[in-house]
Amino acid sequence: MTREEQNLRQEIIQTCLAMNHQGINQGTSGNVSARHGKTMLITPSGIPYEALKPADIVAMPLDDDYGAYEGKLAPSSEWRFHLDIMAARPEVGAIVHTHSTYATAMAICGFEIPAVHYMIAAAGGPTIRVAPYATYGTKELSRNALQALEGRGACLLANHGVIATGPGLQRALWLAGEVETLARQYVLARSLGKPVVLPEEEIAAVVEKFKSYGPRAEAAPAAPKPAPRRKRASGSKPSVRKRGAPGKGSPGRGGKKS
Ligand code: 13P
Ligand code: ZN
Repeated sequence: MTREEQNLRQEIIQTCLAMNHQGINQGTSGNVSARHGKTMLITPSGIPYEALKPADIVAMPLDDDYGAYEGKLAPSSEWRFHLDIMAARPEVGAIVHTHSTYATAMAICGFEIPAVHYMIAAAGGPTIRVAPYATYGTKELSRNALQALEGRGACLLANHGVIATGPGLQRALWLAGEVETLARQYVLARSLGKPVVLPEEEIAAVVEKFKSYGPRAEAAPAAPKPAPRRKRASGSKPSVRKRGAPGKGSPGRGGKKS
């Protein structure tokens, strides 16, 4: 493994710990991924973040062999939406998923976050949409999330949580925090009175203004060299295109199937 990949794995763990520190995470819920060339690095499923080591981070190919993975632990149960978002949105270099309280409360009520503060422009538009409910880890949830993310950097997931994206981990984590803050402000404002919603043109102007303000785009991580062994993530089917010419019982194809 290159030093660069090692550092990115460490940065993923640091992002997870920061999520806990910021109070935007609940137990082992939430997950984090980062693009590394043609590979996605993602947190393993169900492991407390304090216990994570760089070797526990799971690698999944982005361009073929959907659902294949390399690592001793299984990838996050939400690998599908992480992988599908990265495949569909080349500008996304990192994804942070949380169950942060206020944003999730809004998602439970099926409320999108309206433009009650100009900071909503950080997510790319005048609303942060809610993706319709689907069971965690499913392709349906991934499809719903991709739709809700159209033209946006973040969305809510009904009765579930938040997805925040960015060119890099720092920015995705920052946006996840902003989404939670916006939701908290909105919930509080509603408890005081009738929140005033800013016009769409104003948010479009702020989106433009933000291009020269605040955290700048991080460089996308460089391409790694291909790694050898792969298993298969739960519920995934082998893709049509395969690497090499694996015969019956070939190594690295024997992971979980369902
Ligand atoms: P994982 O522990 O599998 O990442 O799942 C947590 C989660 O938030 C599922 O939506
Ligand atoms: Zn979740």
